[in-house]
Amino acid sequence: MKGDHMQYRTRFAPSPTGYMHLGGLRTALYAYLYAKGNNGAFILRIEDTDQERQVEGTAEVIYKTLTEVGLIYDEGPDVGGPCGPYVQSERIGIYREHAEMLIKRGHAYYCFCGKEELDEQRLIHQASRVSHKYNKHCVNLSPEEITKKLSEGTSYVIRQNVSEEGKVFFNDCVYGRIDVDNSTLEDQIILKSDGFPTYNFANVVDDRLMGVTHVIRGNEFLSSTPKHVLLYEGFGWEPPVYIHVPPIMRTADKKLSKRDGDAYYGDFITKGYLKEAIINYIALLGWSPGGEKELFSLPELVEAFDISGISKSPAIFDIKKLDWLNGEYLRAMDDAEFHARALPYIKEGVKRETDTALIAKLLKDRIERLTEIPGQLDFIDTLPEYSSELYTHKKMKTDAESVRPVMPSIASALENVSDWRQEAIHEALMALVECLGCKNGQVLWPLRVALSGKAQTPGGGIEIALILGKEETLTRIRRASDKLNR
Ligand code: GLU
Repeated sequence: MKGDHMQYRTRFAPSPTGYMHLGGLRTALYAYLYAKGNNGAFILRIEDTDQERQVEGTAEVIYKTLTEVGLIYDEGPDVGGPCGPYVQSERIGIYREHAEMLIKRGHAYYCFCGKEELDEQRLIHQASRVSHKYNKHCVNLSPEEITKKLSEGTSYVIRQNVSEEGKVFFNDCVYGRIDVDNSTLEDQIILKSDGFPTYNFANVVDDRLMGVTHVIRGNEFLSSTPKHVLLYEGFGWEPPVYIHVPPIMRTADKKLSKRDGDAYYGDFITKGYLKEAIINYIALLGWSPGGEKELFSLPELVEAFDISGISKSPAIFDIKKLDWLNGEYLRAMDDAEFHARALPYIKEGVKRETDTALIAKLLKDRIERLTEIPGQLDFIDTLPEYSSELYTHKKMKTDAESVRPVMPSIASALENVSDWRQEAIHEALMALVECLGCKNGQVLWPLRVALSGKAQTPGGGIEIALILGKEETLTRIRRASDKLNR
């Protein structure tokens, strides 16, 4: 662990408006890595105050995904914790209480302006070409006026009272010092007329009440941060440390998108990527560990992660690199684990009873994604149509002509193998090579073609014979002979 300081507390605060976006997952990952690398706590909070944008079931997908990839949160909606509830819609009373607290401190006020008044203000601003913002009409209402309106049941919102003078600034760990003139900020609504808080307000109140020390989030929130800092100041609270991270882009000017199927974590799982490779890859999108090492397990990421490695510029998503990394993860697995992970895909490609462990072993070095498996095995259940041209192999000096007399000898050599195991098949074929006085390949190449109808297969003729079993092997060799004699 690095450092001995106050307990770091980071959080991931998604709005459940869609499935787990890759950018969101990377934000969660950084927040997790930073907390864990500093012996701190990682919190999950669901920001669901914008009820209209909710998509049912997406909070559950967030819990499931974080857990699946190993970003285990110490506190959160489904695991509880000392600062709960961790779902904003269950904290409505807290926001009202805090909005009222801010009114007492002079940093917020009741606003009774209705739609008509607001529209009128907008038109006036438009006509005089000044940029529009709320004109503080209600900031100076007397306590009597306010009490009267409240008792009459007039609809209202609560607005933040931003001074028209002065500046607000904060130091972002990635983007540096940011200064903003207060005059450019509006008296934003903090509590809506339906009693729900706005995102900016709930976010600040919760980060404070949940003891968040470091806010790690996408840089699209950089522009809201000055308003957050003013809220902290209004409450007399110390703001947290801000760490904004660059976006992940598909190309320099295009975002990852749902339509291209590259926006969501689940899309990549469906495409056969391993969760470990995805995590490793997204960690490197916008953060560089320095040095050559590129393969990192989650504990290694915890150890290596540091804010100073985060870049300001957008990270460009490179699918080739993810493919490569994924292949590396597949190859690094031990045979048993690879077999277990590959099994559903092998079963999708092969319906007949066969040695799936052997198939897995043959595939391990040949694929970058598990979804490539069924396509690699398409010749096992049914021999595809193939042309005898396939027998032509320059190096082996074989072609259909030269193979024709060899095929029946291959069949008889294999007929005599009673114990259908690799060594026995190998021995029988080598005896044949010896007897024919030819190269190994002049027997093994035609065998592979006859058994698979393909020039490229996982494993060679012997392995395919094992996978197919004796009967099917002999049937296919006889069929090849017939075809060559036609
Ligand atoms: N609820 C915000 C979102 O959906 C979170 C912003 C933050 O992390 O402060 O991205």
